[in-house]
Amino acid sequence: MDSQLWHCSDCGDERAFVQPECSDDHTGDGGSCPEWACVDCGAALVSGVLVVAAEESGLRRAA
Ligand SMILES: [Zn+2]
Ligand SMILES: [Zn+2]
Repeated sequence: MDSQLWHCSDCGDERAFVQPECSDDHTGDGGSCPEWACVDCGAALVSGVLVVAAEESGLRRAA
């Protein structure tokens, strides 16, 4: 499993982030899942503005 070192705002320090099992089919067409989780505290980090935009539009539809 890949891991990346990023600054975790919850831990307040640099931590290893790993990719949890994708449940949103990001990898279905050979892409990579943008979701990462801090191995220490489990804080989720999403890299990729396209996914954030899609989630925001979904929220607006639901509201
Ligand atoms: Zn953390
Ligand atoms: Zn995913």
